[in-house]
Amino acid sequence: MAAPGAWRTMREGKDVRAGNRRRTGRSGGRTTRLAVVQAEARGRSVVFQQGVMLSKHSTWGIGGPAMLFVEIFEPEDMVVALEESVQRDVPLFVLGRGSNCLFDDRGFEGIVALNNMSQYQDLGEGRFRVGSGRRFDHLGVKTSKEGWTGLEFAAGIPGTVGGAVYMNAGANQQQTSDVLVEVEYLDSQGKFHTLKKDQAKFGYRMSPFQEMPQPIVVTSAVFQLRKSDKSRARVMEYMDRRRQTQPLHEKSAGCVFRNPGEGHPPVGYLIEHLGMKGLVVGGASVSHVHGNFLISKDGCQCSDMLQLIEDIKSRIKEATGIDLEEEIHYVPPQGFHRQ
Ligand SMILES: Cc1cc2nc3c(=O)[nH]c(=O)nc-3n(C[C@H](O)[C@H](O)[C@H](O)COP(=O)(O)OP(=O)(O)OC[C@H]3O[C@@H](n4cnc5c(N)ncnc54)[C@H](O)[C@@H]3O)c2cc1C
Repeated sequence: MAAPGAWRTMREGKDVRAGNRRRTGRSGGRTTRLAVVQAEARGRSVVFQQGVMLSKHSTWGIGGPAMLFVEIFEPEDMVVALEESVQRDVPLFVLGRGSNCLFDDRGFEGIVALNNMSQYQDLGEGRFRVGSGRRFDHLGVKTSKEGWTGLEFAAGIPGTVGGAVYMNAGANQQQTSDVLVEVEYLDSQGKFHTLKKDQAKFGYRMSPFQEMPQPIVVTSAVFQLRKSDKSRARVMEYMDRRRQTQPLHEKSAGCVFRNPGEGHPPVGYLIEHLGMKGLVVGGASVSHVHGNFLISKDGCQCSDMLQLIEDIKSRIKEATGIDLEEEIHYVPPQGFHRQ
């Protein structure tokens, strides 16, 4: 690994983002006054904020402050952030749109890297290289409108391309890995790799990246799509179905539990069948529209959501013997791995 960047604290307590940011991002309003820290390495200058509330970056609206928060536009800046996490001996968490994770109310004792690497390259003949910070739903709508089939299902998934690859997101009998050609990722040593889809094992909401011993960062993905004159209509149909079956106007993280498979009914059905729709713990509740969607109301705490998840799991275990697994990722304050 190259020499880690040098830290220096800049104008503690003042918002100096406007002067340092090269592009407009999504780290919050310009009026916030947060302490800022800057790292310089590899000829790059990366600005970190202290104490950004993670609730602003999660679709549930739950989560305390990040020790350091950085918005990443280029893969090289992610290398700098990684090096600094090693230098500081704190974990680094890659954040997409926060549509599948549950942050703790105590926040995160490390670096949260908000992914905005949104490059887009048309390689011809239905092949596209896409930065992992690009919105997956926007990609699905764009390619389908242009007459390409394969990513219609993405239109209703409010995450990033990186989150979709990492989670192997899917819907409507399609999943991300179906149209993947290869993925570029960064390992915890700051080295870039390319993983061909054919060399990797993807499963239901599972990617090889979730099983790697050290955390990695997906930086871009190449998709292969096919021509179709039905793709646009399919997106409309899928979105209509979502509007009818999902609580899209409430704060959720999509389906909380993986479906158990092996001939078992879907979790949403089990929850409804056992009378748990509408079940409430503090500010968290089971949606009345879809049993596998848990809703957070204003003031909902992480502990409310965790308790509701545990209550559902134990009632389902008791009634059916099924051990439910979460699809969402709970992010403990200390992170998953120490590097
Ligand atoms: C209304 C709604 C509907 C949904 N519908 C669906 C659906 O139909 N199908 C489905 O599969 N999901 C669905 N989801 C869940 C969610 O949108 C997907 O799982 C999505 O892929 C998560 O992407 P994200 O960028 O928000 O990831 P985040 O929530 O930000 O992160 C999730 C996990 O992925 C990791 N991660 C994110 N980006 C990277 C990266 N670049 N490199 C390495 N790791 C990374 C994070 O560290 C974290 O562990 C839905 C969610 C909502 C709110």
